[in-house]
Amino acid sequence: MARRTDVVVIGGGQSGLVAGYHLRRLGLDFVILDAQSAPGGAWPHTWDSLRLFSPAAYSSLPGRLMPPQPGETYPDAAHVAAYLSAYEQRYELPVHRPVRVSGVHRDGARLRVETENSGTWLGRAVISATGTWSRPFVPAVPGRAEFTGTQLHTVEYDGPAAFAGKRVTVVGGGNSGAQIAADLAHGTELTWVTLREPRYLADDIDGRALFDHATARRRALDEGRTDTGGVASLGDIVAVPPVREARDAGLLKAQPMFARLTTTGVEWADGTRADSDAIIWCTGFRPALAHLAPLGLRGPRGHIPTAGTQALGEPRVHLLGYGDWTGPASATLIGVGRPAREAARSIAGLLS
Ligand code: FAD
Repeated sequence: MARRTDVVVIGGGQSGLVAGYHLRRLGLDFVILDAQSAPGGAWPHTWDSLRLFSPAAYSSLPGRLMPPQPGETYPDAAHVAAYLSAYEQRYELPVHRPVRVSGVHRDGARLRVETENSGTWLGRAVISATGTWSRPFVPAVPGRAEFTGTQLHTVEYDGPAAFAGKRVTVVGGGNSGAQIAADLAHGTELTWVTLREPRYLADDIDGRALFDHATARRRALDEGRTDTGGVASLGDIVAVPPVREARDAGLLKAQPMFARLTTTGVEWADGTRADSDAIIWCTGFRPALAHLAPLGLRGPRGHIPTAGTQALGEPRVHLLGYGDWTGPASATLIGVGRPAREAARSIAGLLS
């Protein structure tokens, strides 16, 4: 028999947990369904050397500061996962795992949330907070199928050991690309390829500036002033210590994007080639939204149109944590609090 609640939150990473924090404060009944078998969302799946681009206190969720990691200004992913686990326990958030949601359907006054392995829930509203980690994106580059070496995405990168002494091409000029390139700079024959010249934030500023910029942008948009541009307008790469060291040692020399893959490596438009044993695509992610397909919310460009976090095609559904389109900086630890609060308030208003 289907279980009933006010709100079904889908996803138990940072976004789902913060949604729970705010729903609890508003006195709503809710459940969080998470596909993982352990807490932490995507964080336990990243590579060991990953460092946050902001210090701990600036990577905190509402209500509970992230404690500093001893000996590290920029905490690692294991520290974040432990913090999320503690957060979930501290607020006694009702997370059910591992529970994978297969589809959300309209069912009269309710939304029916079907799971693959734990029956059905009937909610009056749904917050989708499933992140992007499960949908790695690799661009359609000519010759990809012909390349005979190893190809992997950021999500499959596990550290430099597997690449020692090899020729490796890292593709991508964001924080993941820069950190993985820095990780490989010493022990491999590295080619780092970026779509445009890498843009570093000034060394004395870090991810806090990205958040401040996103906040200013939100304010400008709210007040009908000119859009100040996305956070990328500040520069894409936070020069965390390993990146700064590799860059300053002259080991991070970026090449422009190549035109195609060959059987043995990559080739630029002018015919220059670089042979590679492995290509690592640090080329981003797409939102994991397949479970919302039954609701038919996609707009003409395949995107789900929203006002803030609320789906335009179904006001009982909110999308949280997927990127700037669901709230400036919403895909960051410090940034997800505000859109989560707005989503919870909106739902409370709808249900009252
Ligand atoms: P996730 O952490 O991906 O959690 C989503 C959860 O939903 C997962 O547990 C997943 O299993 C579950 N799920 C998915 N589909 C279903 C389903 N159908 N049913 C049930 N559950 C489902 N942010 C910062 O603030 N600072 C940083 O330094 C930083 N560095 C980053 C570095 C990298 C390499 C990446 C990729 C991101 C980084 N981010 C950083 C961005 C951001 O904080 C993370 O992407 C974060 O994991 C997003 O949290 P989330 O809860 O939205 O999604």
